[in-house]
Amino acid sequence: QPAISIRDLVKRYAPPKGESEGKLALNGVSFDVPQGQIFGLLGPNGAGKSTLINILAGLVTKTSGSAEIWGFDIDRQRRNASRAIGIVPQEIVFDPFFTPFEVLENQGGFYGIAKHLRRSEELLAAVHLADKRDAYARTLSGGMKRRLLVAKAMVHSPPILVLDEPTAGVDVELRRQLWELVTDLNKEGVTIVLTTHYLEEAEELCDRIAIINHGECIADKPTRELVGMA
Ligand code: ADP
Ligand code: ADP
Repeated sequence: QPAISIRDLVKRYAPPKGESEGKLALNGVSFDVPQGQIFGLLGPNGAGKSTLINILAGLVTKTSGSAEIWGFDIDRQRRNASRAIGIVPQEIVFDPFFTPFEVLENQGGFYGIAKHLRRSEELLAAVHLADKRDAYARTLSGGMKRRLLVAKAMVHSPPILVLDEPTAGVDVELRRQLWELVTDLNKEGVTIVLTTHYLEEAEELCDRIAIINHGECIADKPTRELVGMA
C-alpha cells in the first residue's frame, strides 16, 4: 500500500468577485508516494504544489478526484488520514512568548496525548533544540524556528511528514541542516514528501520526483531515471 495515493485530483478555486471562472490550480493529478521514500514534488511557482499539500492537510477542499493517506480517504476517514500525516507549513507561526517545550506540549494536548506519553524532550533533542527548551520562541533564529516546526509536526508520531518549500529563501548552512534533519527522519522510517522549486535539492534528497506544472503532473519517476533524461 502506498503512503499517499492521489487520483485525478482537480481543484478549481472560487472565482474572484465579478468574474465567472476561478483559477484551475490542479487539473487531474494522479501519483503514488511509496512508503519509506523521500518524495519530491517539484515545480515552478504557481504550479499547484501548495494547493495539493493543503488538500492533503484538510485546509482546502478539492473539486473532484480522491486521495488516500496511509489507506485512509481524506474525506470519509479524515480523522485517521490527519493522524497519519504531519505537515510543516511554509509560514512560521509561533506565539512569541511560548517556549519550544510549551509549543510541543500544547500540540500534544491538542492531539489528546496523555502527559506521560508525550515526547517533547526527545523531539527537541532530535531537532537539536534541547538547549533552547525554555527560551521564548521570539528569541530563536530563523533556522531554530524551522526546526521547531518540524518537531511540532512530529508530535503525534505520524508515519508521513510533508514539508512545503522547507528551504525557500533560507541560506546554504540552514538548508544543509534541514536536509540532514529530513534524511535522519527518513532513516528512522518516516516517509517524507517535500515540495520545492529547486531541481538540485530534489535531485540530492529525493528517491522519487513528481514534476508538477500548470496543475498537471508531467513526470513521476525515480530520481536517477529523471536525471538520466536531462
Ligand atoms: P505553488 O505552490 O506550486 O506555487 P499554488 O498551489 O500556490 O502553487 O497555486 C496554484 C495556482 O492557484 C496559482 O495560479 C495560484 O495563483 C492559484 N491559487 C492559489 N491559492 C489560491 C486561492 N486561495 N484562491 C485563488 N487562487 C489561488
Ligand atoms: P540556526 O541556524 O538556527 O542559528 P545553529 O546554527 O545555532 O542554528 O544550530 C545550533 C547547533 O546545532 C549548531 O552547532 C549546529 O551545527 C547544530 N545543528 C543544527 N541542526 C543540525 C542538524 N540537523 N544536524 C546536526 N547538527 C545540527
